[in-house]
Amino acid sequence: MNQKTRIITVANQKGGVGKTTTAINLATALAAIGEKVLIVDLDPQGNASTGLGIERNQREISAYDVLIGEKTVAEAAVHTAVPNLDIVPSTLDLLGFELEIASDPRRVFKLRDALSHSDISNYRYVFCDCPPSFNLLTMNAMGAANAILVPLQCEFFALEGLSQLLDTVSEVRSTINPKLEIQGVVLTMYDSRNNLAQQVVSDVRDYMGDKVYKTLIPRNVRVSEAPSFGKPVILYDLKCQGSQAYIQLASEIIQRERALAAA
Ligand code: ADP
Ligand code: MG
Repeated sequence: MNQKTRIITVANQKGGVGKTTTAINLATALAAIGEKVLIVDLDPQGNASTGLGIERNQREISAYDVLIGEKTVAEAAVHTAVPNLDIVPSTLDLLGFELEIASDPRRVFKLRDALSHSDISNYRYVFCDCPPSFNLLTMNAMGAANAILVPLQCEFFALEGLSQLLDTVSEVRSTINPKLEIQGVVLTMYDSRNNLAQQVVSDVRDYMGDKVYKTLIPRNVRVSEAPSFGKPVILYDLKCQGSQAYIQLASEIIQRERALAAA
């Protein structure tokens, strides 16, 4: 039996909080247990594409072409070195998307339209990796998704950023995507020796309750090294703490997905 594809958008308006790292490594962990997974790289910086070792010459067709309806996902997706994991890569064309599409009445629905015109039923999960702002690319990703996954760095302004993000999610629900759920909030770059980080974890748990995953992603140098080898950290160093944390997070996500499906 074909299960339904779940579209999960990884979003946070701040840069450097672990969106791309989370998208790549969750996707890899899920692919490793046999699920077919697609990443749509919606950040013009293309870190997900680079981090998965996709060379420039493999990016002739990109997320931009899919968004504007010129190409289907099947035409744009390329295989990665991770079995079961494909990516629709990013190119700098994405930088022009916002301006070019500004007067299109369906400008926030371009990704949803594109995905509904593509056959994505072979994928169990689609992760959209977003740029660090609430721009039209992020809005398209939120408009197309079943759920949003929020990486949050354990730092002083974490709660402020989170409350802005929750406001945006409410706005998206009341305008473009009433069914958007919050899959969860994952705390990233956690350092247990840092008192502030512990305080942030406790504040975020108070504020968001069980929406916060139990798994904390530790700050781990292996995680930051992996992208320069064009590999998810799970392939680069399976045993390191960062890899083990992402594998544990993937299992929490599967449990939540099961609970949501049963509800
Ligand atoms: P974003 O996509 O939100 O901008 P990234 O995932 O690119 O954030 O992460 C920002 C930087 O921090 C990258 O250089 C990445 O390798 C590094 N990084 C992310 N997660 C960790 C971690 N758990 N430990 C150490 N470095 C990390
Ligand atoms: Mg990124």
